[in-house]
Amino acid sequence: MNSEIQARTPALSSRLPRVGTTIFTVMSALAAQHNAVNLGQGFPDFACDPSLVDAVTKAMQAGHNQYPPMIGVAVLRQAIARKIEALHRQRYDGDSEITITAGATQAILTTILAIVHPGDEVIVLEPCYDSYVPNIELAGGVAVRVPLTPGTFRPDFAKIAAALTPRTRAILINSPHNPSATIWSEAEMRSLQDLLAPTNVLLISDEVYEHMVFDGQQHQSAARFPGLAARAFIVSSFGKTYHVTGWKVGYVAAPATLTAEFRKVHQFNVFTVNTPMQYALAAYMADPAPYLGLPAFYQRKRDLFREGLAKTRFKILHTEGSYFQCVDISQVSDLGEADFCQWLTRDIGVAAIPLSAFYGMGFDQRVVRFCFAKQDATLLAALERLQKL
Ligand code: PMP
Ligand code: GLN
Repeated sequence: MNSEIQARTPALSSRLPRVGTTIFTVMSALAAQHNAVNLGQGFPDFACDPSLVDAVTKAMQAGHNQYPPMIGVAVLRQAIARKIEALHRQRYDGDSEITITAGATQAILTTILAIVHPGDEVIVLEPCYDSYVPNIELAGGVAVRVPLTPGTFRPDFAKIAAALTPRTRAILINSPHNPSATIWSEAEMRSLQDLLAPTNVLLISDEVYEHMVFDGQQHQSAARFPGLAARAFIVSSFGKTYHVTGWKVGYVAAPATLTAEFRKVHQFNVFTVNTPMQYALAAYMADPAPYLGLPAFYQRKRDLFREGLAKTRFKILHTEGSYFQCVDISQVSDLGEADFCQWLTRDIGVAAIPLSAFYGMGFDQRVVRFCFAKQDATLLAALERLQKL
């Protein structure tokens, strides 16, 4: 628009005054600009199973092109309920306890808008995914940031207990964890269950990386723990599991009374989620092999990437789950994390994400995150550059 019109635009008081463009968007743009290998933003650079794409085409050709039911198509909700029961021995009712969402991002925002009243506190464990705190603030809530233990990123239950107040409405957890790649153990989930037992605090359990757990470990879904499942909104996303992050289809599983409140907001938030993808995902889920094979698929990539990193001066942190690998940069550079990631992208040609982006106060512990959901050739190309450091 011309400057005359722009000058007449009323000034706005921002709902999110401290928020800029997300680090993932910024780093992907910088990577493209400098032709860098993009190990920053988390997404696969390889194709999904062609039969999944065929299933979408078939659904479109079968005429599934109008609004689906507000809560999602029945066959997909039933398929999700069957899968959760098979994996975690918890029976969710596909009609009243599962809702299809436009990815996990919308699922989390809608959950928060449905449960948080102005002034309510929501506990987040830092470092945490960058949408959580702005979501809480949009609902008029107060984000209470509790640090995961520095160095190990394990939950500190004494600190979580100390953060609980009569205003605490919910706690938000994420396992496997972005960015630290830790996964919660059964004992840790039980500790959370015990801690919350005497309270009315709700749980939002972000489990988008549920099928990326390594070294024979088991994903400890909140669904497995009755005292947690009773109070939990469990969030997942097909984008991660089936290598289709651009489809933006996910779901929320929660007890019927919680789901009813979720849907009140959902219907005025997105109303419905694209129909043909839902039919395709339902058909594709009939075969458990793709998600059961995911740990081995990603563990091989993790190990390939770590072998290469072992020949660099980075200190390699643990990766128990997710498709992220964190490294300590202190032997490689004197720069802070954010400057290091910019420099690494521009001068070395590999994009990474600074961990400080997952903290409110920009805490800099000299650790950056790489995503290894990439073709082997991409990982090898990045490693060749990193080994020059
Ligand atoms: N939570 C976490 C921890 C994530 O890493 C992501 C991935 N970007 C999301 C939520 C959002 O998932 P989706 O792309 O399905 O919205
Ligand atoms: N979840 C992905 C990551 O952590 C990216 C999603 C996004 O770009 N917002 O890298």
